[in-house]
Amino acid sequence: MVRENIVRIKERIISACFRVNRDPSGIKIVAVSKGRGVLDIKEALASGLVDIGENRIQEALDKFNKLKAEGSGPEIQWHMIGHLQKNKVKDAVGIFQLIHSVDSLVLAEEINKRAAKINKIQDILLEVKTSPETTKSGLGPDKVKEAIGEISRLKNINIKGLMTIAPLVNHPEEARSYFKKLRELRESMNAAYILSMGMTDDFEVAIEEGADIIRIGRGIFQGAQG
Ligand SMILES: *Cc1c(COP(=O)(O)O)cnc(C)c1O
Repeated sequence: MVRENIVRIKERIISACFRVNRDPSGIKIVAVSKGRGVLDIKEALASGLVDIGENRIQEALDKFNKLKAEGSGPEIQWHMIGHLQKNKVKDAVGIFQLIHSVDSLVLAEEINKRAAKINKIQDILLEVKTSPETTKSGLGPDKVKEAIGEISRLKNINIKGLMTIAPLVNHPEEARSYFKKLRELRESMNAAYILSMGMTDDFEVAIEEGADIIRIGRGIFQGAQG
């Protein structure tokens, strides 16, 4: 099932890229395995994906250790996509290649400190709140430049780009303005920044607006066994 799902997602990526004249090989799929078991992760790997996203540290650690114990999944690139608490940063820095959800200087400083201890340069994205919903985490768009100025000084952090989560909408087209906002924010700063945006319900619109990384959970794992 996972294999078939991935084939279908890839076809949709190709169509979305075709509409805006982008190269599909430039789009990275992060398979979001929250709530799924290691069997599902292994199926995603067997289908050629290597980027795995989790939103809770304990759950990610459990799967990381389980896979490691069986000697599988050394190729996995782990992505932290959920809100990160300061007391979980040590574990996060230990396993994740990319932390998508950095939304404060305080958090960045803690990541920097923990990364320095293990001689790591931690790649991060800054999470930007592109919608006015008060429940969402993320930096306000007007705070991003200042945050980048401060975080750039931290030696063990590398800012790779920006991430956003669009609000729940009835039609994917309604999410477009939030993705556009993130792209415009990048255009106003560093053109080399990558954009992590788009999930199962809205990834095609996100690609049309310039997503480099899409984060797909249900679209890959629905109907799967383990
Ligand atoms: C769960 C989650 C996803 C994947 O959501 P789907 O709708 O299942 O594709 C992507 N990004 C974040 C931050 C998530 O928490």
